[in-house]
Amino acid sequence: MQPREEPAMDYKRILVFGAHPDDELTMAPTMAMLADRGVEVCICIATNGSEGYPRPEWRDQIVAMRAREMAEADRLIGTTERICIGADDMGLINDKPTFKAFIEVIRRVRPHVIFTHGPHDMHRDHLNTHAISIEAAWQAGNPVSAELGETWRTPYIFYYKAVQDRPPDIVLDVREWAHVRPLTQATQVTQLTLWNTTVEQLEAEAERLRHSDAPFTNTFWFHERTHLSYLPPLEL
Ligand SMILES: [Zn+2]
Repeated sequence: MQPREEPAMDYKRILVFGAHPDDELTMAPTMAMLADRGVEVCICIATNGSEGYPRPEWRDQIVAMRAREMAEADRLIGTTERICIGADDMGLINDKPTFKAFIEVIRRVRPHVIFTHGPHDMHRDHLNTHAISIEAAWQAGNPVSAELGETWRTPYIFYYKAVQDRPPDIVLDVREWAHVRPLTQATQVTQLTLWNTTVEQLEAEAERLRHSDAPFTNTFWFHERTHLSYLPPLEL
């Protein structure tokens, strides 16, 4: 079967893992689209973003600043719930407590789809989020560590970034929600130096996208153990 251009995404609840506050904004248009369609959009960020300060004087406040920025982004996305595991930025470790924290989140949220980082990346936190989330999705479905909640088997796992060895399996046209990406980025004021942009530029881009009818896509890759060539609607 060929990948479909506009696959059905008929899910009740999704869980998006990100290493840092803002990683998940790559798929902000998809999240906004699903939220508009009544899907519960839960986001779980592994670290507190404590290293994301371009100016030394922001160091002591950066975690609080980024939490405020994410709350603003969540209003634009329509996020149902944001969960912060709170690991140290650049210090996310694939150890037992962190692994169990991921399992607990999956068992509590009970998502029908997990979106997470792909395997081809430079940042240590991205790589560890990838490894921990994939393993936790599997272990959450096993009758172990019962204090972490009822077992939950997530049917589908997709990568939303960091896959370099193959073309995307899903190309989702999200043109109606394209402007949400630059608008959410514009809320991340502490990160604009890193991204080499300004609020004004991002808002202008959002305005352009709002009035454009050109295709705008988010791309996704199947986790290697998902043997489907499109996103089927789930019968739940
Ligand atoms: Zn990141």
